[in-house]
Amino acid sequence: MKEFDYLCIGAGSGGIASANRASMYGQKVALIEARHVGGTCVNVGCVPKKAMWFGAQVAEAIHRYAPDYGFDVHVNKFDWSTLVASREAYIERIHGSYDRVLSNNGVTLINGFAKFVDANTVEVNGEQIRAKHILIATGGRPSIPNIPGAELGIDSDGFFALSEQPKRVVVVGAGYIAVELAGVLHSLGSETHLAVRKHAPLRDFDPMLNETLMEIMAEDGPTLHTHSIPQSVEKLADGSLKLNFENGNSLEVDKLIWAIGREPATDQINLQGIGVELDDYGYIKVDDYSNTSVEGVYAVGDNIGKIELTPVAVKAGRLLSERLFNGKTTAKMDYELVPTVVFSHPAIGTIGLTEPEAVAKYGENHVKVYTSSFGAMYTAVTQHRQVTKMKLICVGEDEKVVGLHGIGLGMDEILQGFGVAMKMGATKADFDACVAIHPTSAEEFVTLR
Ligand code: FAD
Ligand code: NDP
Repeated sequence: MKEFDYLCIGAGSGGIASANRASMYGQKVALIEARHVGGTCVNVGCVPKKAMWFGAQVAEAIHRYAPDYGFDVHVNKFDWSTLVASREAYIERIHGSYDRVLSNNGVTLINGFAKFVDANTVEVNGEQIRAKHILIATGGRPSIPNIPGAELGIDSDGFFALSEQPKRVVVVGAGYIAVELAGVLHSLGSETHLAVRKHAPLRDFDPMLNETLMEIMAEDGPTLHTHSIPQSVEKLADGSLKLNFENGNSLEVDKLIWAIGREPATDQINLQGIGVELDDYGYIKVDDYSNTSVEGVYAVGDNIGKIELTPVAVKAGRLLSERLFNGKTTAKMDYELVPTVVFSHPAIGTIGLTEPEAVAKYGENHVKVYTSSFGAMYTAVTQHRQVTKMKLICVGEDEKVVGLHGIGLGMDEILQGFGVAMKMGATKADFDACVAIHPTSAEEFVTLR
């Protein structure tokens, strides 16, 4: 039987980060991966998504903005397969660099599906491996609705496997993935429908964000269908798909993409058998230190039902190794004020409380909200103007900034530094004390009145 100090199940964002950090402290580490190194983010998540989003930005620059900047652009065609090939070549290079780092750190990479035998032993490819500490970083997988014909649709993994651009497509769902994939497909030229079951996409975000996104979608697309609950899917004689909604409407498309959320990959690894407690949705219950209910078994990332973002999984994985192997006994993940971006068109950035959350938490009288709305300058010199909106939510006498939200061009790159400021407890006065950078969109955040 092979023996290690530390075993990480899943070579995604959390597992790789934790394994590398543990090995830097001299631990003998094994990392087990059933599919591809890099996990969801690198293979079917952040990375290929962002590559497609950049492709969509190029399309928008050519079609919407280039003419008013004086370019007489004639595009013969857009070749989906070239974009996919460039994207996959990039991912291959990332695989190479991950392999090199793991190997330089002396982490043993094992290909196979791991299943617990007991709290210190897993079985992979028929072989048992033991370790004093085991991390479960198995991530999640897309959910599919339980309605007739649901299997005729694809999920986000299926989107990244598309070798041809769909002519007509419907994306069903209201979260990050639905908004991002619908935006990309629309900008790249597919006839795109986004179907949400309630009144808006990104319902949990600050209302300014989803309302503005819907205004922009109404002008620029994709076509938004609200209050549209999927009922069934049929395949028509010509091969098209017909998506029927409970409200009696239907859509005929070439591809249907389900983006209705994800579920944890915790059901096939014998967690109940070794006593690891799960919640009602199958997420692993952990304490503040990433400990599961079984001593020596830990969990980080998408399978614990907290914040499903790559940097969260990475940070939690690294902090766990700092605690276990570098004597930082109080190291723990802080899930407060995590900055996040939706790569919509234009991008949405958000940190901290929404306005309704701040009012509910502190009371209306203690909350002061600052907003700004203006045309993004890049678009303002063209006929295709696009709005940018920003909001700061402050509380108390000292106007501590507890929420920062924005939608507009460049928001994805604007946000990070403001995350630092808010982590440091910045007040409105601290924001105002910073001299603006002109002319930028970001400067509005430090000049709000
Ligand atoms: P994963 O990255 O999912 O890794 C888990 C790994 O474990 C997988 O490789 C899996 O094959 C392996 N595995 C599972 N079970 C076993 C087993 N029993 N034995 C061996 N191996 C196993 N986040 C962002 O921050 N920014 C973004 O822009 C972003 N975009 C996204 C776009 C899409 C379409 C999706 C789906 C997600 C996106 N995310 C984004 C979320 C991000 O990808 C996840 O939060 C992150 O990958 C979670 O990391 P993880 O380590 O928990 O799991
Ligand atoms: P989300 O949980 O973000 O959103 C899914 C939404 O789909 C639900 O909130 C719900 O919205 C709607 N929905 C749920 N069930 C159904 C149903 N049966 N029919 C129709 N609609 C339904 O999931 P995603 O899959 O979009 O993304 C998973 C996570 O991955 C995200 O939460 C995020 O953490 C991460 N991610 C991050 C990205 C980034 O950082 N840019 C990009 C992509 C993913 P409602 O209740 O309003 O109908």
